[in-house]
Amino acid sequence: MTRLAQRHEAVNLSQGFPDFAAPLPIKQAACDAILADINQYAVTWGARPLREAIAADFTARHGLPIVPDEQVTVCCGSTEAMMATMLAIVDPGDEVIVFEPFYENYGPDAILSGATPKFVRLYEPGPDRPDWAYDPGELAAAFSDRTRAIIINTPNNPTGKVFQRHELEEIAALCRTWDVIAVTDEIYDHILYDGQQHVAMAALEGMADRTVTINSVSKTFSVTGWRVGWTVAPADLTNGIRKVHDFLTVGAAAPLQAAAAAALSMPAAYYQDLAAGYQARRDRLLAILEPAGFTCYRPKGAYYIMTDIAAFGFPNDVEFARHLVADIGVAAVPGSSFYRTAGAGQQKLRFCFCKKDETLNEAEKRLAKLKVSGPASVRS
Ligand code: PLP
Repeated sequence: MTRLAQRHEAVNLSQGFPDFAAPLPIKQAACDAILADINQYAVTWGARPLREAIAADFTARHGLPIVPDEQVTVCCGSTEAMMATMLAIVDPGDEVIVFEPFYENYGPDAILSGATPKFVRLYEPGPDRPDWAYDPGELAAAFSDRTRAIIINTPNNPTGKVFQRHELEEIAALCRTWDVIAVTDEIYDHILYDGQQHVAMAALEGMADRTVTINSVSKTFSVTGWRVGWTVAPADLTNGIRKVHDFLTVGAAAPLQAAAAAALSMPAAYYQDLAAGYQARRDRLLAILEPAGFTCYRPKGAYYIMTDIAAFGFPNDVEFARHLVADIGVAAVPGSSFYRTAGAGQQKLRFCFCKKDETLNEAEKRLAKLKVSGPASVRS
């Protein structure tokens, strides 16, 4: 969709990267690191200052002691962190549970590691369901002797769901019963709305020794192009992750690791402003999409709005997305790309709002040309 957006000079609300500047102190730290000649390979599992900063941050936020030398592995973004984790922990034929709709990479990650993905549906909000939710019976039925891992993404892309403590405790109990590893992608953990709280799976009782927590600087510090992410995991799992990581990429860019360590010492006000800024952008995009005819699922975290496009009367999401980018000049992601189940997501479209006011204003102008054939309303 980003390529189509470029071809049609469309406003790109598809791929989740900010079009505004990254924080100056972080950019300065990157320049300083290059000038200080931090330009050669870092230790393969991550430069010590960054691993120490990650461990200290994790302990401060989640109350779990972390040994940087044994439990932290720095990778090329959380994308590599997830791939290295899957290759390290999964044997061909093992099953991995994935909530559907899912962030697009989890499907290929499962395939590349030889895992068989087992999808558990997150049902959309409706009259009897205030938030995206799984069916507890379906979740329990997905676990078996073949299950090796479950992937959780909270706050969630594409739905904006923030998994609540009781849900994570339910998942944790199943992990303990079936001896399953929880792999949690928490890269939006600072981007929460309406007083939501992030709960880290690793911090739940009995989960520290069976959880791989994945994070990165991409979203929290608006530097998706830096490619610095990491895993925090028990020592035995870290050992395997490091071996895979070493042969996949050797290491993340050394000067950007130094800058990432500096980023992790940003003051608390930075994170408050980040969440408040995104909440304002979320509200702005909701106020653009709803009058244009979209039914919006109000996100509680991350920076996407999943919408229902039934009001436009198109046969499917891909045709509608093509119309939107080519004729209206706004790019969004077809909902079906977040589902594996045939036919699912075909009346959905995901927009991102990690964009400048000017970008959102321009999208509003263009969306005014859209023709609606039915009513729409914002659900919360
Ligand atoms: N995980 C989720 C849920 C995402 O939404 C994204 C990017 O959109 C990524 C991982 C990729 O993160 P990174 O840039 O750290 O590789």
